[in-house]
Amino acid sequence: MVRILKPGMSDQTRLDLQGEVEQTVRGIVGDIRARGDEALRGFSTRFDAWSPPSFRLGAEQIAAAVAQLPAEQREAIEFTLTQVRAFAAAQRASVQDVEVETLPGVTLGHRVLPVGSVGCYVPGGRYPMVASAIMSVATAKVAGVQRVVAVTPPKDGQPYAATVATMHLAGADEIYIMGGVQALAALALGTASIAPVDMLVGPGNAYVAEAKRQLFGTVGIDLLAGPTETLVIADDSADAEMVATDLLGQAEHGPNSPAVLLTTSPALAAALPDEIGRQLARLATRDVAGAAWRDYGQILLADSDEELLRVADEIASEHVQVLTRDPGYFLERLTNYGSLFLGPETNVAYGDKAIGTNHILPTGRAARYTGGLWVGKFLKTVTYQRATPQASVTVGRHCSVICGVEGFAGHQRQADLRVERYSGAAVPV
Ligand code: NAD
Repeated sequence: MVRILKPGMSDQTRLDLQGEVEQTVRGIVGDIRARGDEALRGFSTRFDAWSPPSFRLGAEQIAAAVAQLPAEQREAIEFTLTQVRAFAAAQRASVQDVEVETLPGVTLGHRVLPVGSVGCYVPGGRYPMVASAIMSVATAKVAGVQRVVAVTPPKDGQPYAATVATMHLAGADEIYIMGGVQALAALALGTASIAPVDMLVGPGNAYVAEAKRQLFGTVGIDLLAGPTETLVIADDSADAEMVATDLLGQAEHGPNSPAVLLTTSPALAAALPDEIGRQLARLATRDVAGAAWRDYGQILLADSDEELLRVADEIASEHVQVLTRDPGYFLERLTNYGSLFLGPETNVAYGDKAIGTNHILPTGRAARYTGGLWVGKFLKTVTYQRATPQASVTVGRHCSVICGVEGFAGHQRQADLRVERYSGAAVPV
């Protein structure tokens, strides 16, 4: 039995908050649909105090942002770009066209084709998330997307130069400074000044995630990548300092970012609250991280490794840091997570900023049914078929029977016509 030593927020409070977000987003999307650019400008002014002559940046503004990037920052950005591209390219190579003869004369295949245009949302409300531009834009380009549009909110009343520069270095074809629901709705629905995209990708706050959910269908989306969450699985080989650092390092994302310790060590569980308090006192982002820990932080004590597995799969956290003697045990057995960080030598910050796996990952238990953003999300697997006259007769006879059972007279005629036309050939039954 898992003992809850520190509970997080109640499910009811969570649902109430989600209900409010849903209503707000519905109103904004509806207004952008009805009034286009005018509504976009209105919401941008209201939420971000931002009403520039043009939301789209010109080539000179982009070049200026790149030029002002300090050398050390550019080097770090290029490092991450290289890492993300290398992993994405290897993953792209693993997705192949298929063509197979399933029956003599029946050829079935699929082609892997990139989506034509995507809108990449780069969060920028609390922190200007430079690394998110790499994760979405560079990956879309490795997948072969022709038109990649990158958007981000302004920071302190102007474009954040490092984000703009990174979008450009990652390969963005168009860059707009606009944020939140209004940006996503404008991209999905199109306005007089913005051509619509086929798909929206990228992380963001609860409003951003809900906007993608509501716009899905009008456009494709990658996944629901909302407020960050982290789970640390630890045994008695882990120390409280590292566990607290790894929890607070993610809790600082926002006051609604859950950070959970799941452990078999009573000593670690007992030591954690004091260590969290000690580290919070000197953390520059303590207001946010402290609020997240207070309202969403949890300490769960399990009896066995099997219980760790069961509870971790139930939580289905975006990030799972494994600080145990044998991290491989969890790699082999865990099934629900966005990304795994195996052993103390790596951590979620590496994944967020530099190591090369994608940081746009499922939240809100979406890891039960999807992994994170990767080249495959930008690819469509479309099928085709071919048949010889002889094979057409074989398939046509079976097809006709099924059409008859279902009452599809028109379908049946399609099949029967082929059987009549091609049964002159030698027909295997
Ligand atoms: P953001 O860019 O996602 O959101 C800022 C925008 O939210 C603003 O431009 C504004 O238009 C809109 N907004 C703010 N308050 C609003 C309100 N009351 N009504 C309607 N719209 C409103 O930036 P952020 O807020 O800093 O959030 C970034 C989020 O991204 C964090 O929660 C972080 O955890 C998450 N994140 C998730 C992942 C992932 O892969 N799951 C990765 C990175 C970041």
